[in-house]
Amino acid sequence: MEDIIIIGAGVSSIFFAHKLVQENKNLSIRIIDKGKPLKERICGLDEGLSCTCSEGCNRYIGYAGLGKSEGKFNYTNDFGGDLGRKIGGGETLELMKEVDRILQKHGAESVGLYSTKNKSLAAKAEKHGLEVLSAEVRHLGTKVAIEVFQKLYETLQEHIHFTFETNVTSLQPEAQSFFIETDKGNFHSKQLIIGTGKSGGNWINKQMDDLGLNTGETRLDLGLRIEMREDQLNAILKDTFETKLRCRGKGYEATTYCMNPRGRIIRKYQNGLVMPDGQNKNEEKTESGNLNFTLFVPRYFPSYDQAMQTAHRIIGGINQGDGRIINQRLGDFYANRPSTELSSNLIRPSLEAEAGNLAVEIPDLYLRSVLEFMGKLENLIECPIHPDTLLYGMDAKFYEPQIYTTENFETQIKDLYLIGDCSGITHSLSQAAASGLYVADKILQKHKGLC
Ligand SMILES: Cc1cc2nc3c(=O)[nH]c(=O)nc-3n(C[C@H](O)[C@H](O)[C@H](O)COP(=O)(O)OP(=O)(O)OC[C@H]3O[C@@H](n4cnc5c(N)ncnc54)[C@H](O)[C@@H]3O)c2cc1C
Repeated sequence: MEDIIIIGAGVSSIFFAHKLVQENKNLSIRIIDKGKPLKERICGLDEGLSCTCSEGCNRYIGYAGLGKSEGKFNYTNDFGGDLGRKIGGGETLELMKEVDRILQKHGAESVGLYSTKNKSLAAKAEKHGLEVLSAEVRHLGTKVAIEVFQKLYETLQEHIHFTFETNVTSLQPEAQSFFIETDKGNFHSKQLIIGTGKSGGNWINKQMDDLGLNTGETRLDLGLRIEMREDQLNAILKDTFETKLRCRGKGYEATTYCMNPRGRIIRKYQNGLVMPDGQNKNEEKTESGNLNFTLFVPRYFPSYDQAMQTAHRIIGGINQGDGRIINQRLGDFYANRPSTELSSNLIRPSLEAEAGNLAVEIPDLYLRSVLEFMGKLENLIECPIHPDTLLYGMDAKFYEPQIYTTENFETQIKDLYLIGDCSGITHSLSQAAASGLYVADKILQKHKGLC
């Protein structure tokens, strides 16, 4: 019998476990993950080949979870989840400072912290109907993120049992403990923490159903990825690497996401769908000279299934079963005519896609948001956006359905907690990590008999 079992070795679980072992070395703790240790998380896609993973892609599952990706820690309450709304904005920012101290202690100090705050830009943007969101950012990039998470692993390994390549199939509460069933044997634990992120979405829904715990509405962000001349945004990017802009229109609120100056567009494989995603210039040997970002529009669905059905209908429709992605020139999009071929386009597409007509494949809401956003952006930069700008269909950001938890992230079942993205509260590295620290603190207090 363990004191604590954590399902999932992702970002939230790592910070949760780190806090526990720093403050109480007497607890017996086990972390179970269906993926591999970090050093073994290798996929053909990393070398430009096709995915070679047998069960679940190594890029997304295993030790460090999705923390193995871009490693961009945004310290803010403006985006990345609703942690501030749940536990208070001030406390969230304090926890993020702690997250950053832990990262630095494990090698992240080699990457500078920068701020995207710019008062004069914010005032100017407001005049044109745009809001500038800001954050303190430590952008590790994949290479440093891997080094930092590996160092954290070496620290944790001294105190924690890791069980990899083990799929937790079900869990059952018993009198004073939990019975945890996996495909490699069973475990018992007094307290149970679930940190299964987005990759455990279907699994957690089933568990919650079986345990009679209610799941609520599910958010789904869809949007076009935009590739434009980088110098067009010089005026707003001159002081920061990335600016996040929000545009509100009738029935929507659209926000720019993952802005990559001199970056490329790559393929993202998730939930059986293929989407255009941004890759930072730091990850590439050659720079594209283009800038790309997605303009996401969030929508809320009554259930997880309905959100996924919508994603599959729209993106699956574009993919046509063979990973097809479409793109269109902005000039053609405005003129409501399909793009045919882009060989003489000034802006060279950094991702191979099929030139087409977004208007016949993408719902009006997302097209309207791009039209209105581009208009406001032109006013802000005081220059027309080049008609050879490219729009790619279509990117998505998936969220877990919200499951009811107390302010300590405890479910209606005593001693069963949800941390990170599977709670439906966090949607980013910094917030997932902060939620882990927060719940660890509550559990430590419980062990001391303080709450
Ligand atoms: C491609 C991509 C890039 C991203 N880049 C950024 C970024 O740069 N900045 C940012 O702020 N956010 C980013 N995000 C979001 C961010 O990575 C997540 O919000 C964060 O990692 C969530 O942490 P987590 O601990 O909740 O889950 P995860 O990090 O996803 O970890 C969940 C773990 O649970 C395991 N698991 C799931 N089910 C089971 C099961 N049944 N049994 C055993 N193990 C299980 C998985 O193997 C996985 O290791 C990105 C997301 C994606 C998809």
